[in-house]
Amino acid sequence: MKAVIFSEPNKFSVEERSIPSVGELDALIRVHACGICGTDIHILHGEHIVRFPVIPGHEFSGEVVEVGSCVTGVKVGDRVTVDPNIVDRTCFFCRRGEINLCENLTAVGVNYNGGFAEYASVPAEQVYLIPENVSLDEAALAEPLSCCIHGMDRAGVRTGDTVLVLGAGGIGLILIQLARAAGAGRILVSEPDPGKRKLAALFGAGELIDPSSEDVLQRVFNITRVGADVVIESAGRKETAEMAPKLARRGGTVLQFGVVSPDKMVSLAPYDIFYRELKITGSFVNPFTHARAVEMLSTKQVDVLPVISHRFAMENISEALRVAQSRDAIKVLVMSQTG
Ligand SMILES: [Zn+2]
Repeated sequence: MKAVIFSEPNKFSVEERSIPSVGELDALIRVHACGICGTDIHILHGEHIVRFPVIPGHEFSGEVVEVGSCVTGVKVGDRVTVDPNIVDRTCFFCRRGEINLCENLTAVGVNYNGGFAEYASVPAEQVYLIPENVSLDEAALAEPLSCCIHGMDRAGVRTGDTVLVLGAGGIGLILIQLARAAGAGRILVSEPDPGKRKLAALFGAGELIDPSSEDVLQRVFNITRVGADVVIESAGRKETAEMAPKLARRGGTVLQFGVVSPDKMVSLAPYDIFYRELKITGSFVNPFTHARAVEMLSTKQVDVLPVISHRFAMENISEALRVAQSRDAIKVLVMSQTG
């Protein structure tokens, strides 16, 4: 099979590899599409600990072509999406149900070979069936969607809440749709790219702010008077992360969803958290939310197709990675099967 190999930081190629072996509890998936995630870019640049060489890719869909002898619940021919995050089930956190905080968390496409290949072998229990009315392109976005659903759980958006989303990339555009589905009243979006603002409006954002030409703080308080009930940072930038608590109302919630580089610091007045009773929370991966992601795709409450901005054949991985790091990209899919 053909596969993308990251051999060392900043070095990758498309190579011939043998089709992975299938253990007794594994499912072999003929990969349809695999999304490029920010994490893949971090892995490429050596900013994320992985086992090199690795076949990256953890946002993928495909068809089951073989199952191990002990596998039940998944069979050859099933159309599936994969939850890439694997936990040990026995650590302090797993035994309290907080599996995303597992002390031994590993992931397909990070610690094991992933979806930028024609075939991927994964533990069958990581596999989720998709219904007929969900395409394999859509199913490739089930993983980022499942992470966004956890974010919504953490943010606790209530019916009628004013939700402010900072950054309308792929993740922001999914979060906007989830906020709408959760019954948010007013949805505000701050995003410099006009095309992404247009999509945000399509998905239910009523107030569009251009941070490159407007004073975000002033505009948000003009619209809301008191600040937003929930502020979601989904730009992954120090500047927006620093601004987010200032945009929340008294008693409001700030969700840090974007991945800001670990060496970046922001200043925050503890007095503000105290006096304004702010709730500041994070959201990490997708504990028990993958099935709900499939449900949201099936019921069409989230439309991920407009979020897919580019599709590349695996042979063009170099161009795909370049575009994924550019401003015009929203979600880039690498298509494993040509023709
Ligand atoms: Zn654990």
